Amino acid sequence: MKRILAVAGALALLTLAVPGLRADSQSGAPEAGMWDLRDLYPTPEAWTAARDKVKAQAETLDRYRGTLGKSAGAMLKALAAISDVNREAARLAVYASLKGDEDVRIAANQERLQSAQQLGTLIQEKTAWLRPELIRIGQKKVLAFEATSPELKRRFAFQLDNALRYAPHTLDVQAEGVMAAAGDVLAQPNAIYSQLANGELPRPEVTLSDGTKVKLDQAAYTKYRTATDRADRKAVFDAFWPSFSAFQGTFGQTLTTQVQAEVFDAKVRHFPNSLADATFADNMPEAVYRQLVAEANKNLPTLYRYLALRKKALGIADSLHYYDLYVPIFDLPNPPQFSVADSERIALDVDAIYGPEYTALLKRGFAGNWMNVYPHPGKANGAYMNGSAYDVHPYLLFNNHDDYPSLSTFVHEWGHAIHTLLTKENQPFENSSYSTFIAETASIGNEMLLSDYMVAHARNDAEKEYYLGQALELIRGTFFRQTMFAEFQLALHEALEKGNTLSGEKMTDMYCGLLKKYYGDKEGAMKVDPAYCIEWAFIPHFYYGFYVYQYATSMAGAAQFADAIEHEGVPARDRYIAMLKAGGSDYPYTLYKKAGLDMASPAPYEALVARMNRTMDQIEAIEAKKGK
Ligand SMILES: [Zn+2]
Repeated sequence: MKRILAVAGALALLTLAVPGLRADSQSGAPEAGMWDLRDLYPTPEAWTAARDKVKAQAETLDRYRGTLGKSAGAMLKALAAISDVNREAARLAVYASLKGDEDVRIAANQERLQSAQQLGTLIQEKTAWLRPELIRIGQKKVLAFEATSPELKRRFAFQLDNALRYAPHTLDVQAEGVMAAAGDVLAQPNAIYSQLANGELPRPEVTLSDGTKVKLDQAAYTKYRTATDRADRKAVFDAFWPSFSAFQGTFGQTLTTQVQAEVFDAKVRHFPNSLADATFADNMPEAVYRQLVAEANKNLPTLYRYLALRKKALGIADSLHYYDLYVPIFDLPNPPQFSVADSERIALDVDAIYGPEYTALLKRGFAGNWMNVYPHPGKANGAYMNGSAYDVHPYLLFNNHDDYPSLSTFVHEWGHAIHTLLTKENQPFENSSYSTFIAETASIGNEMLLSDYMVAHARNDAEKEYYLGQALELIRGTFFRQTMFAEFQLALHEALEKGNTLSGEKMTDMYCGLLKKYYGDKEGAMKVDPAYCIEWAFIPHFYYGFYVYQYATSMAGAAQFADAIEHEGVPARDRYIAMLKAGGSDYPYTLYKKAGLDMASPAPYEALVARMNRTMDQIEAIEAKKGK
């Protein structure tokens, strides 16, 4: 999912622009490794014609205003008209987005994208009255309408329930108008942060041991922090972080304003606190968030065990330092290569555990022109699946380098694609948009199964350790690091909610405390140099509300499913597939529950930690054989 991957640095691939496939051949038919957008619209002109038609339809949507309470038939008619416009607008947006990503340098592509976004805004404006009107009609009448209209119930029951939940948090017309007008102002902290962190922040230069001079922007930092030479990675840290520290006060004020905006929204909308406000959209119990943080804390000794293993594998005699965190512990001189054909074969093998229905869909996908595989000049970075066009198959974008991280990304995105197909085959359009919580379980689960498969099929111990090392780093980065971020965010919000103040300096202190706790400074697992405690200023996710915790919960859910399917077999598999087929027909917490997982209980987090310990057991067994 692009929405997720845009912010999931850990899962996105860095792209190098190398000459590769061209976006379009002369004949109009796609080249190998290139998606075929003609399944969406035969030509750009056909897109424009469809856009004009949908725009005209959207303009008329406010004529349904005030009609929904008249009868079940009137409600169905209005909701169906809105739904039809949304369905075609989504298809238009998918084409515009994919076409834009083929070559971001082409102005016509960017204009088409803007036009699709404007259409989205127009639909929002023309239907802004919908939820308040439903709330005025009330649950009793809505349920009575559903009882007389099976189609209203089948297509819209969940949407209606979801809209009515907002009643206690919806204000009168005048106050809602004020909130809407304030929206732009409240969104400014992110814009200011982005301007400074990605634009105007001075970039320090560092000279590496081989004499290379590197200007440390964010991409260079991410690349060179993995340096094999220890002095180099220390030099990178020592040069990079002071550039953020110099603006500690500004970053602090900006983030404080962001948190103030979220606390303000919670207060005005009658939520007990900002966490309850943030988790409301998914109807996720606050307990899930708090359980996640508690479980990560309880299991920090497992993270310390990994740090000890890392220190030993890297042959570090003194203390492990924070700058020793990113260098791979088991590198291969000639890492294994995987062509797309290899990736497809391995994905089919790995996903066989999900049964014939799942693998049949994979085969169908591989046989179609659904993927844009290799990097080429002008192409968008990263990787994603876009399945928002309900009436067309999903599309997938990769920047494949034929290495193991590319293979892992391949099975991740195909996990999203099969989830989308299973949803579309079993749900009406209105219930086809599933939540991030479920989505990332479907994709990260595939990465875990792949990791198990690669370890089992490794040709020798060195290869085995390479895969095991990558698996450990995935769990550290997705579970422990994201939960530490989640704990930091919660602490910031609670500070303001208790009437305390915040500043950049205070944030650095708070973050330092968390880094030292998570990485075991007192326990001797790692030395955390205070100069690096400005790292919070580097994380853009703190401007997205309470968001990052979903990576950690999804991974825990995936771990418990993987265990259940591997041990229990078909019944667990069927529960899992049923959850994917349910799409967005219910709240994610409920869907997990039906599939046998309680995300507010310790079980999923325990399954993930047990997996991390098993991974380390395997590494230690290999090391013991070597007599280390
Ligand atoms: Zn994903």
